[in-house]
Amino acid sequence: MSDTSDAVRDICDTIIKRVDRAYVAECGRKNELPTKLWEMWVDTGLLAMGLPEEYGGAGGSLHDIVLAIDLLHREALLLPLAVPNFMSREPLLRHASEEQKRRYLPPTATGEEFFSFGITEPDSGTNTFKIKTTAVRQEDGTYVLNGSKTYQTAFVESAHCLLVARTEAHDATDRKSGISLFIVDTKLPGISTTQMDIGMYLPEKNYVVYYDNVVLQPDALVGVEGKGLNILFDSLNSERLLVAAMNVGQADYVLNRAADYAKTRAPFGTPIGTYQSIQHPMARAKTYIEAGRTMMYLAAEKYDRGEPIGLEANMVKILTSEAFKMAAEIAMTTFGGAGVDVSQDILPFYIAAQNNTVAPVNNQIVLSYIAERALGLPKSY
Ligand SMILES: Cc1cc2nc3c(=O)[nH]c(=O)nc-3n(C[C@H](O)[C@H](O)[C@H](O)COP(=O)(O)OP(=O)(O)OC[C@H]3O[C@@H](n4cnc5c(N)ncnc54)[C@H](O)[C@@H]3O)c2cc1C
Repeated sequence: MSDTSDAVRDICDTIIKRVDRAYVAECGRKNELPTKLWEMWVDTGLLAMGLPEEYGGAGGSLHDIVLAIDLLHREALLLPLAVPNFMSREPLLRHASEEQKRRYLPPTATGEEFFSFGITEPDSGTNTFKIKTTAVRQEDGTYVLNGSKTYQTAFVESAHCLLVARTEAHDATDRKSGISLFIVDTKLPGISTTQMDIGMYLPEKNYVVYYDNVVLQPDALVGVEGKGLNILFDSLNSERLLVAAMNVGQADYVLNRAADYAKTRAPFGTPIGTYQSIQHPMARAKTYIEAGRTMMYLAAEKYDRGEPIGLEANMVKILTSEAFKMAAEIAMTTFGGAGVDVSQDILPFYIAAQNNTVAPVNNQIVLSYIAERALGLPKSY
């Protein structure tokens, strides 16, 4: 355990003492950002973690960011917004110009500005190669953006969106080419939004976003035109680990809540925690949680050493999302009818666990990736 990991533990202990689950749950029910928690992330420097000091960050490793998310989520102090904030830095650090880095990165450390992500479209869904949003380069070097994106988390609240759009027609022989990555100011003329009705008790709002002849300046382009998907895919492995930390943390929280309940709830006189039908699924979930957590930290350390983690990151996605789903399912069973009593605060985890098998990428396509890379099976999509 490094000194920085000890410091992260101390910071998380401080936050846990000052912000409680009841407040965060209430924000989720009201669909409002937990500003007290966000301010703690800013004030304690957690938000600055992982960003080099020259761009206003506090340095540190992916391992430490994963640790912070895991520790806070074990207390169900959720801040999903932190994930796109960390994730946006990766493609910018690796591919943006020096000018772009100096303009856009420092405010992500102070919380003054954050990024949303613009990938998913109504028709193409998981198939990013088939996106229809276009950014057409004009003679003066500007781009004109047209199209729409869906499930845009916190788009309106974010200052910028890291958006993929097609700059050339789809080429079946090279599916990744022709798509470019842009930094889009979310307040530009021609952008309109509709808030989606998402029944997830999430603090963040989600939007459908429409782009109607939105003019982007030439310096909105990140990296090389037509290579946006390569840039994006490059950054996905670290995102997998951030979401994995949310999974194992919340899985532990909901499982511990269920275990506590099972120790005292006794409709037939003996606590229901005595029954193997309750115990065994709990034990199985705990086993998956610890397997996923161990692999998650190993993968984060490997990433910090600069080694490729494609396979591990995807396996961690499967292990941790399934662990979370197992934990939430047995929690719902354990609470019986009380599982849907909103005041018990169990249902949000059940919905979130199911969602985390689908987003940010569905488990089926992740399994296909593992089948191809680990077993040499043919590509299915
Ligand atoms: C709460 C929430 C927040 C989100 N935030 C964002 C965001 O900020 N930005 C953003 O861009 N997107 C966001 N998303 C979108 C998310 O990334 C997509 O929902 C996800 O990628 C799945 O796409 P889809 O919903 O279109 O499913 P589809 O592509 O329609 O797939 C439906 C189902 O079909 C199956 N399937 C699809 N393709 C395959 C395949 N190749 N092999 C096997 N099975 C397959 C899977 O079971 C999948 O669950 C968010 C989604 C949610 C629910």
